[in-house]
Amino acid sequence: MWTCRNCNARFAFDEVEAQTDESGFFFICRDCDYRNRLMNIGPDAAGRPQLVQRDDE
Ligand SMILES: [Zn+2]
Repeated sequence: MWTCRNCNARFAFDEVEAQTDESGFFFICRDCDYRNRLMNIGPDAAGRPQLVQRDDE
């Protein structure tokens, strides 16, 4: 689950689409449009980025 840092809404990983720009990965909260930062911890076995939320962001 990902949790919005602004409104505390929780989303399953397939509910929101991770996006990326020049500053990194993020997802947009569907409830409040807050931009939540994500961290890429490296490719998984299929070569896709594994995105996690840092506890302090
Ligand atoms: Zn939110």
